[in-house]
Amino acid sequence: MRQLTFVRHGKLEWREVPAPRIEGPGEALVRPIVVATCDLDAVMLAAPSPLFRGPFPIGHEFIAEVAEVGEAVRSVRPGDRVVVPFQLSCGACGRCRRGLTGSCETVPHRSMYGLGRLGGSHGGALSDLVRVPFAEHMLVAVPDGVAPVTVASASDNLPDAWRTVGPALRERPGATVLVVGGSAASIGLYAAGMAVALGAGAVDYLDTDLGRLRLAERLGANPVDGPPPRRLGPYAVTVDASGDPAGLACALRSLEPEGVCTGSAIYFGQGVPLPLWEMYDGCVTFRTGRAHVRRDIPEVLALIGAGRFRPEVVTGAVVGWEDAPEALLEPGVKTVVVRDPAA
Ligand SMILES: [Zn+2]
Ligand SMILES: [Zn+2]
Repeated sequence: MRQLTFVRHGKLEWREVPAPRIEGPGEALVRPIVVATCDLDAVMLAAPSPLFRGPFPIGHEFIAEVAEVGEAVRSVRPGDRVVVPFQLSCGACGRCRRGLTGSCETVPHRSMYGLGRLGGSHGGALSDLVRVPFAEHMLVAVPDGVAPVTVASASDNLPDAWRTVGPALRERPGATVLVVGGSAASIGLYAAGMAVALGAGAVDYLDTDLGRLRLAERLGANPVDGPPPRRLGPYAVTVDASGDPAGLACALRSLEPEGVCTGSAIYFGQGVPLPLWEMYDGCVTFRTGRAHVRRDIPEVLALIGAGRFRPEVVTGAVVGWEDAPEALLEPGVKTVVVRDPAA
């Protein structure tokens, strides 16, 4: 089968590889039909990094059609359209049962599609077939009436955004929200749009990128243009999607007492200072870490299915399958690759 391969930063190519096969009764083979770029793809395609050495199959946000199921799989059938979580998880271990599916105890730590050695050898989304273990737990049906292209990021960036605002606004309806935008570009925008959809009292979106500020405004947030100041607000809920230590410090200092900040941006190998005295004094909570995407995919699909949040506003380009090697190298917040544009 054909598989899009990350050769090195700035170079992708189609390669012929053996197709995966079902290896156990609980597995499925799926055929990706829509693939989105993750915020991390842009980072690894833009510059060399010791974490991302090719060759490896790329792509980890995808909607697929079920092609074949093992004899124990009853929740999905061939032809069903499903969201495939980018993290592999079993659904049955102690952590999975607590909803901590990003830290599943059954699979090797950080098992993920499309991220090379960082995630293990599980294949990538820009392939003709992908093997899915624990298929009954992993695969989530795309709801009727929801276009696969709309929810292409439901594998990763959408639930990553949801966890930054959804639980906090459920606990405190109408709370105020600040999103500091930046390198986790789509996650920050999704977080701002979801906070608006979830009824936040006010949603401010801080960034220096004019394109992202405009998208935030279209999602109903209040755009705030400029580099991160020492402090804004105060807000009950803040989100750091900046990837900038000054942005993170701003998100933390801008909390009101007992507020909660979630960091979705990744600081690879950096020692980043935190304003710990102000955090202690304000009794604030800071959460960071990989998202537990399988747990939150149904929340995201329900919000979008109800027409309350439109992630397609963030999508910069929708391109055909053959154009993926060039299109993924173009700058843009979110690119979606479609196998069959007519479908
Ligand atoms: Zn990702
Ligand atoms: Zn597990």
